[in-house]
Amino acid sequence: MSGLWWVWEETNLKIAIAGGGVIGLSIAAEISTRYPQESVTVFAGLRPGATDAAGAMFNVFSEIDRNTLVFLPMFRKLEYAALALELWPDWAAKYGIPAHFCETLVHAQTDLDQEILNYIGVALKTFGDKFGAIDSGIAILQEGYVQPTRLKAALINAIHRNQNCIVRSTDFMRQQDDKSYDVVIWANGAYASMYFDFKVRTFYGNGLGMIFPGRFPPNIVRTPVRFNSCGINVLPYGADETYVGASNYISANSHVPKDVIRETCKYLAEQAEALTGARFISKGYRTVLGPRPMTEDGQPLVGWMDDRNFIVTGTRRDGLTISPRLAPDVADCVVKYKTFSNPIYDDWRPNRDPLRWLPKDIAVIQTTQSLIERAKLHNQDINLIDNEVLKKYNSNHIEYGVLPEYYEFI
Ligand SMILES: Cc1cc2nc3c(=O)[nH]c(=O)nc-3n(C[C@H](O)[C@H](O)[C@H](O)COP(=O)(O)OP(=O)(O)OC[C@H]3O[C@@H](n4cnc5c(N)ncnc54)[C@H](O)[C@@H]3O)c2cc1C
Repeated sequence: MSGLWWVWEETNLKIAIAGGGVIGLSIAAEISTRYPQESVTVFAGLRPGATDAAGAMFNVFSEIDRNTLVFLPMFRKLEYAALALELWPDWAAKYGIPAHFCETLVHAQTDLDQEILNYIGVALKTFGDKFGAIDSGIAILQEGYVQPTRLKAALINAIHRNQNCIVRSTDFMRQQDDKSYDVVIWANGAYASMYFDFKVRTFYGNGLGMIFPGRFPPNIVRTPVRFNSCGINVLPYGADETYVGASNYISANSHVPKDVIRETCKYLAEQAEALTGARFISKGYRTVLGPRPMTEDGQPLVGWMDDRNFIVTGTRRDGLTISPRLAPDVADCVVKYKTFSNPIYDDWRPNRDPLRWLPKDIAVIQTTQSLIERAKLHNQDINLIDNEVLKKYNSNHIEYGVLPEYYEFI
């Protein structure tokens, strides 16, 4: 029997997981299923989570942006997500997750959309996936979606079948709960920054989705990502509803002003109509709202913060997509090996300095283009934008590139 096996078999760890979104539940399902000798308590806090607001798609190629194929950390993340996508059918079968695997139709509506569509085409060829041309767009044949409440219910069912895991609907409180556990896995999404000081700046990417009665497109119809955000997507939601998403209101907390919500709903409904030809404006709907866990360098935060606290956050726009790969790796790292074998996790260390992979001149061009595209979509004056971005960089003495989505925070 090897030394590693001995460590794994004899640990009997008491593990707390703070956070009951897709990441916390997936990790709980993996640990409790594969390591029956460990005991796991999930603290599923009641603040709104990103998982509850998501569509939620397994979008890999349709999430490509202008930087994905060019800069190594982003390309590595694409490779990671592409492999996660391949794991989804087995993952869904293992935990009884009612996932749908289908086409994603990505349409271009603006010049910038068209440019990004070209990158998607290159990526699909590079990865050898099948795709076919459609009018002003691309059909990606191998992505999919799952209704997030059904996803969470399936994972909770799987967890409850195991004797060694319980789910409590309450926050993990450091002062009172800390001493009872050997390890705490912080899978609390955007809220992680309330508990830890990271060297990488983190943000709440507050996203809003609208749920309409009736099913409009049979599969996913969307634009490419826009302004380094998720673009517009329209897809089935459960048996008889349609999801239209999503906004990305970046902030230092989870508060979204009422007028922003109103404006966003109007914008999303108009864009969804333009995209699908179906009727959304003036139809009844409900909204779902939750914060994406965002980091300034676009990379997740995953790993040991110290010898008790393990962080898994910063999954940005694709926590659901990568969960079949992330959760088993985290389970093995926490219980068995204490370290990761995949070098991508070096990039994702939670106590790293920010990765400065985006050059300043490229960031200035991309941000200016994004602001112009956004102004055009909202019929605003584009002349005011000329040189504004470079002036702001220079007056703040910033010599590295900041992702366009964080421009307001420079
Ligand atoms: C509108 C929108 C659309 C999206 N679409 C997609 C998509 O199509 N595909 C995709 O892959 N990803 C998508 N994402 C991103 C994805 O939702 C996230 O990456 C993922 O859900 C993050 O999961 P999580 O479990 O880390 O965080 P969350 O789902 O945010 O869960 C964190 C939970 O932690 C809880 N919590 C906080 N503090 C504590 C504490 N002290 N103790 C216990 N619990 C605590 C909170 O209450 C919260 O419920 C989308 C996000 C949004 C907002």
